[in-house]
Amino acid sequence: MDSADQFRFTHLPHPAPVSVAQRTELLANPGFGRVFTDHMAVVRYKEGQGWHNPTIEARAPIALDPAAAVLHYAQEIFEGMKAYRAADGGVVMFRPDANARRFRQSAERMAMAEVPEALFLDAVRELVRADRDWIPSGESASLYLRPFMIASEAFLGVKPSSEYLFIVIASPVGAYFSGGAVSVWVSEEYTRAAPGGTGAAKCGGNYAASLLAQREAKRQNCDQVLFLDAAEHRWIEEMGGMNVFFVMDDGTLVTPPLGGTILPGITRDTLLTLARDRGLTVREERYGIDQCYADAASGRLVEAFACGTAAVVTPIGRFRGHRGEIVIGAGNGADPVTGDLREALIGIQRGQRPDPHGWVQ
Ligand code: PMP
Repeated sequence: MDSADQFRFTHLPHPAPVSVAQRTELLANPGFGRVFTDHMAVVRYKEGQGWHNPTIEARAPIALDPAAAVLHYAQEIFEGMKAYRAADGGVVMFRPDANARRFRQSAERMAMAEVPEALFLDAVRELVRADRDWIPSGESASLYLRPFMIASEAFLGVKPSSEYLFIVIASPVGAYFSGGAVSVWVSEEYTRAAPGGTGAAKCGGNYAASLLAQREAKRQNCDQVLFLDAAEHRWIEEMGGMNVFFVMDDGTLVTPPLGGTILPGITRDTLLTLARDRGLTVREERYGIDQCYADAASGRLVEAFACGTAAVVTPIGRFRGHRGEIVIGAGNGADPVTGDLREALIGIQRGQRPDPHGWVQ
């Protein structure tokens, strides 16, 4: 599709949308990721033909050949982003262009066809428009959007697929964590990503590889898992589905640097800017797990928090692992720097605070 009106989505009629009464009931208490909207955006790719047939259609199971490459070699990537109901009743999205760029970079790493950023944004916007009645209102509620792409060529040889499906689905959600501070299990046995690997790409395989560690965390009564680096098992990297920050007693913020093994979180990037705007010193530098335990003991480490699209900014109350347990700050999430950054971020996302960086669309 090279013409000027490329990516014009065809809206197919929905045979049986959910009734208003049923939708209202679903939106009252959506939880996270179990309730889905009426529609999905679908765009197909074939080598030689490029991206074609963009449609908004009824959300339904998709037909895949059992030999489809994604089912065997996990050639798959995804994104996670949110649409919010703003204070004035309008609909806003937060830095969707950053998700479009990261999706393209993930595709490049996985040797997949790249979705043009304009097409990615059109697909997301068209779906939000079609399902705008599904955007919940309320403090911690939003419409979570899940763009993803799968390799659909039916071929068992190991090579990049020549066909892809790019789909966007949407799910009204409440808060990811039920409130207060979370507890974090430090995984010593399992690592998430190695240098040269796919850690910086948002591909399904990274998450499949993290599930056993996440299960271990649950068994240890922790909410999330913290991964250390694969080479030395010493440096803090990130959590199963969010980035991590530490706040020192002199007000300095520390977060692990992007080096190809951690996901370049859009919330992470946003908070770095917000912290600098506030005059805080921010260091993107390696932070060892032993140092973390020592700093918690000495009182130098005063706060820690997790951040991501789903988690927003969530205080970390304690770390547990083979080194024992450390309690961070008050242990109950009443942490001033974390709270201030969280308020600032949510305020901008909801259109309640000025947006000097032009993040809200
Ligand atoms: N790390 C991982 C492994 C994640 O899955 C996520 C969620 N996308 C993040 C970090 C945070 O990224 P973002 O702020 O862009 O949601």
